[in-house]
Amino acid sequence: MRVLITGAAGFIGSHLCERFLKEGHEVIGIDNFITGDKDNIKDFSNHKNFKLIEKDLTSISEIEGNFDIIYHLASPASPKHYTEYPLETMLVNSLGTKLLLDKARNDKTIFVYASTSEVYGDPLVHPQKESYYGNVNPVGKRSMYDEAKRFGEALCMVYLRKYNVDVRIARIFNTYGPRMGIDDGRVIPNFMVQAIKDLPLTIYGDGNQTRSFCYIDDMIEGLYRMGTKKAIKGEIINLGNPYEIKIIELADIIEKIVSKKLKREFLPLPEDDPKRRCPDIEKARKILNWKPKVEFARGLKLTYEYFKKILK
Ligand code: UDP
Repeated sequence: MRVLITGAAGFIGSHLCERFLKEGHEVIGIDNFITGDKDNIKDFSNHKNFKLIEKDLTSISEIEGNFDIIYHLASPASPKHYTEYPLETMLVNSLGTKLLLDKARNDKTIFVYASTSEVYGDPLVHPQKESYYGNVNPVGKRSMYDEAKRFGEALCMVYLRKYNVDVRIARIFNTYGPRMGIDDGRVIPNFMVQAIKDLPLTIYGDGNQTRSFCYIDDMIEGLYRMGTKKAIKGEIINLGNPYEIKIIELADIIEKIVSKKLKREFLPLPEDDPKRRCPDIEKARKILNWKPKVEFARGLKLTYEYFKKILK
């Protein structure tokens, strides 16, 4: 197969490229490196089946070649990054998504859109099922991301209903693992870097807010199935690990993993920070026969090894 992956040098994108290459497929990646990293693709950038187009998706008028699957992962994805790049975030999920959907429509290609648990906003329903409409502040500090992804999803559904494009929407919940950037700003890389440097763990708010973290290998398996599974046109599927913990508990677990007693610094909770987040993954179980396998302690250990190596 020939697969197009946008955001190829990102955390999830680079792992997805590698997975398709390992299965013997040809991968064309696109990245503009605003939040992607050359280091993420160095292990396979010379692979004979890999080609990188170093461009901003929103400045491309046409993508040459035919593909079997298009994955659209290009977008700043951490609160720190989408706040730094609000316009880029909105445009890559709107204009960028349209460009790729037109390509998928013309070439009759499967299109997988990387959406997010952020479409549920600060959810009032737990756990979150795909049928939940969400509780999003359309003009809040996270709206450039939440609303851009919601627009991207809506655009996918227009192309499904109007042009019968084989779109699939993956709602990706918090994911962690090797290749997250040290400046990513999300809680796991922050805590890892702070632990290694003997700095206090920065806890926003009182730390009672929850998240459910999925290890990257599990996420990649889910995404791989989203693109390669036959006859799932139009499906919208949560991908994530339903193991829900408080951020304060995460700090305790990380202390155990790194075998150090760490100080804690309590900082203000960012505006519109969701209080609880946990995926209902029944749909992924049924449709993709998928569920996460990597235990949290093991995933964190692997992630810790990675951060120790890159911070050496
Ligand atoms: N958080 C924290 N300390 C940090 C970074 C994040 O307490 O150094 C909190 C953040 O307020 C949120 C949760 O951890 O409640 C997860 O934040 P992250 O940025 O990882 O991702 P989000 O799920 O909010 O997109």
